[in-house]
Amino acid sequence: MAKKQFQAESKRLLEMMINSIYSQKEIFLRELISNSSDAIDKIYYKALTDDSLQFEKDNYYIKIEADKESRTLKITDTGIGMTKEELENNLGTIAKSGSLAFKNENELKDGHDIIGQFGVGFYSAFMVADVVTVTTRALGSDVAYKWESEGADGYTIEEAQKDTIGTEIILTIKENTEDETYDEYLEEYRLKGIIKKYSDFIRYPIKMEVTSQRPKEGSENNEFEEFKEEQTINSMVPIWRKNKNELTDEDYENFYQEKHYGFDKPLKHIHISVDGAIRYNAILFIPEKMPFDFYSPEFEKGFELYSSGVLIMNKCADLLPDYFSFVKGMVDSEDLSLNISREILQHDRQLKLIAKNIKNKIKSQLQSLLKDEREKYEQFFETFGRQLKYGVYSDFGQHKEDLQDLIMFYSSKEKKLVTLAEYVERMPEDQKYIYYASGDSHDRIEKLPQTEIVLDKGYEILYFTDEIDEFAIKMLMSYKEKEFKSVSSGDLGIDEENENQTETEQSENKELFDYMKDILSGKVKDVRASKRLKSHPVCISTEGEVSIEMEKILKAMPNNQNVQADKVLEININHDVFKSLKDAFVQDKDKLTLFTNLLYNQALLIEGLPIQDPVEFTNDICKVMV
Ligand code: ADP
Repeated sequence: MAKKQFQAESKRLLEMMINSIYSQKEIFLRELISNSSDAIDKIYYKALTDDSLQFEKDNYYIKIEADKESRTLKITDTGIGMTKEELENNLGTIAKSGSLAFKNENELKDGHDIIGQFGVGFYSAFMVADVVTVTTRALGSDVAYKWESEGADGYTIEEAQKDTIGTEIILTIKENTEDETYDEYLEEYRLKGIIKKYSDFIRYPIKMEVTSQRPKEGSENNEFEEFKEEQTINSMVPIWRKNKNELTDEDYENFYQEKHYGFDKPLKHIHISVDGAIRYNAILFIPEKMPFDFYSPEFEKGFELYSSGVLIMNKCADLLPDYFSFVKGMVDSEDLSLNISREILQHDRQLKLIAKNIKNKIKSQLQSLLKDEREKYEQFFETFGRQLKYGVYSDFGQHKEDLQDLIMFYSSKEKKLVTLAEYVERMPEDQKYIYYASGDSHDRIEKLPQTEIVLDKGYEILYFTDEIDEFAIKMLMSYKEKEFKSVSSGDLGIDEENENQTETEQSENKELFDYMKDILSGKVKDVRASKRLKSHPVCISTEGEVSIEMEKILKAMPNNQNVQADKVLEININHDVFKSLKDAFVQDKDKLTLFTNLLYNQALLIEGLPIQDPVEFTNDICKVMV
């Protein structure tokens, strides 16, 4: 019998595909099972419009049989089969999809969809097989045909014997080579694993003979015997295709556990079904606890991506922004192609639309969690809030609009987390800025001298304890037209009654302040009479963009740029210490130097900054004592 050649371009395409499209060989089984499922769907659709056809669901299945001796793997389906012409057209021309043609000719309803549309999947069989034999009998035909090919060389078609409608594909599995093992595709456990992984939600049963164990009959010492039984490997109905009303929280929790999204329970699930310009189903979870590897380089964000119930990617990162990287889950869309590669997917228009849609859903779900279940939201924010704040800062502030209403800070007034909206809502009319104070912990911030005047005015202060906080706020700049202001910054925008007194003291004691500034030359930019201190003698404030906290963080970074905050030493003119300084300035300059250094180092300590020379500092204290 004469061998027919694949069409010219097909030959090249076949070789290319076998070697490049699929990164994993195991995919071949997914492709063949998907074709079988499509073939059964086609009968289902025909039955919808053809009264002479009955579709008894129980009669339709896909069967997998491996035979190690003959090195064959058989995939049988009870689908629509192929006529000789269809065999010729569909399997003789690569990149020609009978399924796509069928889809275009028939209006598909019921949420069913044909998977194959690209006409290459079948050939993936050649990744693992030397010979592929397809015996098929089309619905309504008495004759069966056998198509056989050893790869790029071409194929033969001849009449064959087959009693039932459907298709049987026999792969003669390749011999192992030095680099590759193929034996595994004849192993029961391996085949089972591949089916579970990629084809668990195929709508028809995928049956396979499986070896199980049972207690041996009549045996007295608990002996077991092996036996073979046919099992359905796939679970068939994906939870995301079910109606939300039919599902309980427990169903979602089980799914979360089954999928190994985490060891915890999900804090919230988001079930999305979109049917419009874009179509997809998704089940997303906000975990309760942070994954142990969340901040490690090993952590990979992303959703499982399915195309019509068939897994095409384990972690599709393009589906969610970094600031939502803690969200787990899966997305299934009919509009994505099965044979798509990672690179192509990145530019896929549908995928981009889905990603945008998902981002908005997550955002609105978090917003309603904040509104309706405050406690849960706070719990969530304690765990993942930092990620949202990184989001405000990242990509030059591109996402700040999306995120500014989701971030929270601890409040001096409420003694708990508050949103920016709540802060601004409570602001007294005369308050110009949103005040914040930075430090390592709430306790520490609470005691910062700089907070005194702001608190005295009755203004609320937000506590910034995360490294990212000040950076995020610098990016945000303002919220509802209110600018952010550090309590340590030069101008606090608070008009004090004793403003004039401060100004007077400042000018009257100019020489003293200048003298002190010289003592601290290179350490501070200025020494000044403070407008903000009430009971504390001294503090450090900053001028310019870099704050003390930022200086600490930047210094801790590898190859730091030696960025310095412009520090100002502020002296409380109403404190007795000021009197001592004035006296020393007149009577004893050595004493003034001693006092100045002491005050400077005290101020550093309060800020949590290291003292350059602790020994000198302690010696200085002793000098005051004796
Ligand atoms: P795709 O599935 O993307 O269309 P394939 O190369 O996998 O591409 O298959 C080509 C065509 O061969 C299919 O569109 C379908 O018409 C036909 N086909 C493949 N496998 C079967 C099968 N098991 N039963 C019936 N038709 C099949």
